[in-house]
Amino acid sequence: MSNNRQGLFREIPAVDRLLTTTRLQQASGEYPRSLILKAINLVLDDLRAKIQNGEIEAQNQLGLDLVSNRVTEKLKMISRASLRPVINATGVVVHTNLGRSILAEKVLRRFRSLSGGYSNLEYDLERGVRGSRYTHVEDILKELTGAEAAMVVNNNAAAVLVSLETLARGREVVVSRGQLVEIGGSFRIPDVMRKSGARMVEVGATNKTHLRDYEEVIGPETALLLKVHRSNFELVGFTEDVPLSDLVELGKRNGIPVMEDLGSGCFVDFSHYGLMKEPTVQETLSQGAALVTFSGDKLLGGPQAGIILGQNGLVEAIKKNQLSRALRIDKLTLLALEETLRLYRDERVAVKEIPTLRMICQSHGSLIRKADRLFKLIGRLKTGNFSIELVGGTSKVGGGALPLLELPSRLLSLIPGKLSSQAMEAWLRSYEPPVITRLERERVLLDLRTVQERELKTVARAIKDLAQLD
Ligand SMILES: *Cc1c(COP(=O)(O)O)cnc(C)c1O
Repeated sequence: MSNNRQGLFREIPAVDRLLTTTRLQQASGEYPRSLILKAINLVLDDLRAKIQNGEIEAQNQLGLDLVSNRVTEKLKMISRASLRPVINATGVVVHTNLGRSILAEKVLRRFRSLSGGYSNLEYDLERGVRGSRYTHVEDILKELTGAEAAMVVNNNAAAVLVSLETLARGREVVVSRGQLVEIGGSFRIPDVMRKSGARMVEVGATNKTHLRDYEEVIGPETALLLKVHRSNFELVGFTEDVPLSDLVELGKRNGIPVMEDLGSGCFVDFSHYGLMKEPTVQETLSQGAALVTFSGDKLLGGPQAGIILGQNGLVEAIKKNQLSRALRIDKLTLLALEETLRLYRDERVAVKEIPTLRMICQSHGSLIRKADRLFKLIGRLKTGNFSIELVGGTSKVGGGALPLLELPSRLLSLIPGKLSSQAMEAWLRSYEPPVITRLERERVLLDLRTVQERELKTVARAIKDLAQLD
């Protein structure tokens, strides 16, 4: 090792000396000592590594002021919460990595009053005895969908698992090869089936499944016919599927119930809003499915939850399953779900107040106006870092729903100058709050569809700060 490097190691300020600096004296009023020591050690480790690999070559990079400054920055970083709000400028409405659906304002208002105190979660106020947590959403789910019975669990993966376990453990479930989906990298129909203890009987080919394919395999071991909504992909070309009503007919003849995993599950018919048709929960039930499962936080626009609707006997059996206890829904989720469902009593209110629906149904005109407002807030920029323009483009619904649907949108495009698009994307992602954008053909794109009105000022500030960067 060179003498210079040895010398530099000796110049690293000692922990005791750092603790006496005004900066860290001040910090000791704000942070626990253990956290300050942790920050100091992290910074010192980092300095040693930098000396070792030659990034630090001069004594003045190790001054007491400079180092104590870095310690306070580190302190801020390690003490802040890990789960943080971000601005979604990707245009993907139900973005699984960014928390899927955002909750309606009305739902948020109820959090304070209900979660800060006790509630009648499992208490029957009329009779003064123990009640069931499911009662709070059962009636409204039945009212909105026409289902005979309802229950809710932690998420839709849990809903599918507990349904299969209850109805088909040790027996056979028939499913088409064209519906063996994988969602979000961890939910796969064959794997969930195995976990439930049911035996999967695949029928048909990837692109075509006929009614006779199901007919041929039905036997004494058959417990269930399963249909899975192809949430995140489409089959195109020469394809054939058995409509739910035909499957139900076949099930009836053989005394076997039909279950459909709808995935997204929406109550609103999007074709009324000029968008693609997605089967609604109500339609699926009226076609005779004995059991329907779907997510609370995809197209429904509520909290993460799994909703199970269907015939009384089946739903009662699922409620009694020990697994349901393990997969049970939390009270905060339950209150958010109840409040979201209440908005669906009037579809116009739902489309206006539930952010997921509002963003999907947003008119092109309002997107253009939002983009213009952002453009004005940014104002004229004198910078060589990048240039900006407003462009047309498309957004996605996301969350494994309507995979082919492209919603026309308005986007702010950052064209690289001194800064590359990768550098701009990363810088915006490290902003406080982080702004998550899209990289496309060497442009950084900010899709206005998923940027909330209240966030426009922050986005404008981020862009202006990026312009000032040297
Ligand atoms: C999304 C999805 C699931 C999983 O739902 P989660 O709520 O994410 O657990 C299961 N099945 C289908 C068809 C889906 O689209």
